[in-house]
Amino acid sequence: MRRSLVAGNWKMHGSGVMITGLLQRLVQGLGAAEDGVEVVVCPPAPYLSLSQDLLRHTGVQLGAQNVHAEAAGAYTGEVAAAMLVEFGVRFVIVGHSERRRDAGETDEQVARKCAAALKSGISPIVCVGETLEEREAGNADSVVARQVNAILQRCDDAALLNSVFAYEPVWAIGTGITATPAQAQSMHGLIRSLLRESSIDLAARTRILYGGSVSAENARALFAQSDIDGGLVGGASLRPEEFITICKSVSEQWKP
Ligand code: PEP
Repeated sequence: MRRSLVAGNWKMHGSGVMITGLLQRLVQGLGAAEDGVEVVVCPPAPYLSLSQDLLRHTGVQLGAQNVHAEAAGAYTGEVAAAMLVEFGVRFVIVGHSERRRDAGETDEQVARKCAAALKSGISPIVCVGETLEEREAGNADSVVARQVNAILQRCDDAALLNSVFAYEPVWAIGTGITATPAQAQSMHGLIRSLLRESSIDLAARTRILYGGSVSAENARALFAQSDIDGGLVGGASLRPEEFITICKSVSEQWKP
């Protein structure tokens, strides 16, 4: 049985005061919902230490938004996986479409980041997804398959058991347009079948999250799909009441 997971990607938002209030409200509001769902928040790197302090002895886990592929070196402005570990980071987002687009990250670089995270004991949340142009050209499946296969080729199956995948259609991120549950399930099914070609165990155990304008309104229908194991949530994760509702709508569907 895969345990559901909801991760909040705060992107480049927040301040010390804002994050303190957000985390206090979140921890208070989640209560027993944590029994059915793992909850992760990914603040901007400068707030990892503050977040670690605020999340101590709570059920909410800490994630980061990026990691460098190398262990150390002359990489100005970058952060190594071992540094994240020192701040209690358990998850890291790799291959987010905003980094593929803005920082020019390639499939190969994303796969190397994924390997670096796994080597340090951090679970990578590997983002894959097609642009609107790619979908309209009928290439959505092949783009996502290429992105997933780059990971499978670089990392071995045993290590990948600690990974999480996130299908995030680029056209749904921050747009208010969500993939329909059927569209999302179809792509999640494809991703799981690619994992199965590598290892039956990997396919059975890997959580595949959906991301792209998840909200309190659409979360339940998305999470009811058989291959959707939770969500990667951007905008709504900055609104504590809505994020709590999203986490609870996953938790309520959890059957131990
Ligand atoms: C994201 O940034 O990963 C994301 C899914 O954003 P949003 O929920 O705002 O679409």
